[in-house]
Amino acid sequence: MGRFSIAIDGPAGAGKSSVARTLAQRLGYLHIDTGALYRALTLLVLRRGVNPAEEAAIAKLAREAQISLVAGSGGVKVFLDGKDVTDAIRDPVVSENVSLVAQHPRVRDHLLAIQRELAADGGVVMDGRDIGTVVLPDADLKVFLTASAKERARRRMKELRTQGHKVTYKDILLSIRARDNLDAERLVAPLRAAADAVFLDTTGKDIDTVVEEILGYLSAVGGRDECSTDV
Ligand code: C5P
Repeated sequence: MGRFSIAIDGPAGAGKSSVARTLAQRLGYLHIDTGALYRALTLLVLRRGVNPAEEAAIAKLAREAQISLVAGSGGVKVFLDGKDVTDAIRDPVVSENVSLVAQHPRVRDHLLAIQRELAADGGVVMDGRDIGTVVLPDADLKVFLTASAKERARRRMKELRTQGHKVTYKDILLSIRARDNLDAERLVAPLRAAADAVFLDTTGKDIDTVVEEILGYLSAVGGRDECSTDV
């Protein structure tokens, strides 16, 4: 049986990355968190003092930078020019600026090629905003994850506080809403469900429940029997 490509899209905090990571583990697939690529580039933009509105300067940085996702026993690590930036890219300052960087067509073009190359051999669970619509329009299964804005803000707050950031619920809610608006309203590859995507509301559901539901959809497209059962 071939190795399937699974696209998971949705707004910030819908649970995409956690669900995609667990699903990839269950299937023995590669998890590609495409938001991490945009975040790593944004970190570089901020470190170099480049204005997030400057498309040409950012596109140049994107061409010159070495951004890589490296799978290891503790999950996927993100490297920027040879340095591990897995934690640094989650900083709230990066979150505040990433949608501004991600809106530029030339920046997206560059990262699109990288994403398609990473997924070229199949056997991937890729999560982002435009995976089902633009990056992998022929994916075997497309899922659009949603959750109420309040729940998404609560999840993000918990995650950030665990990482030691002092954040308030109100600030997170505002920041999530602002990011979703920018992502959904940009001209190129906006946050949108593909016409053939399955909608899945994760409000009140834990990761394993959502993963089981997705595995059910995968069965329906003929991909379930390669799922490992020894987990
Ligand atoms: O998934 P995450 O919240 O880490 O993504 C950070 C940002 O990267 C998103 O808010 C969006 O602006 C951008 N992004 C994107 N397209 C993707 C993945 C992420 O524009 N496929």
